[in-house]
Amino acid sequence: MINPAQWATIHRLVDWLDRENGRSPHEVSMRLLKLVEESGEVAQAYIGMTGQNPRKGVTHTAADVADELCDVILSAAVALATIADTNAEATLNAKLTKVAARAEAVAQ
Ligand SMILES: [Mg+2]
Repeated sequence: MINPAQWATIHRLVDWLDRENGRSPHEVSMRLLKLVEESGEVAQAYIGMTGQNPRKGVTHTAADVADELCDVILSAAVALATIADTNAEATLNAKLTKVAARAEAVAQ
């Protein structure tokens, strides 16, 4: 869960991107594409952690995978704050509540 201070940081990052790059449809697309890029880096780190490629061997650690997962979370939060603006936090909270309720219903 992203706490209010972290959301404030996310919104500052969005403001910075808005100042530097504007908020054109192309820029919004780039922020969504960044999430895909970071997701690929998770896969790359995990493959490297397992040593699945015999030519490369083990190239990453679990900490590397965790770091890339954090990049995914941050990229998603920036994209969410770009799309949902000030409703980003409420949107995430509502989704988490819905998913938790669904999981709890299945567990019973
Ligand atoms: Mg990354």
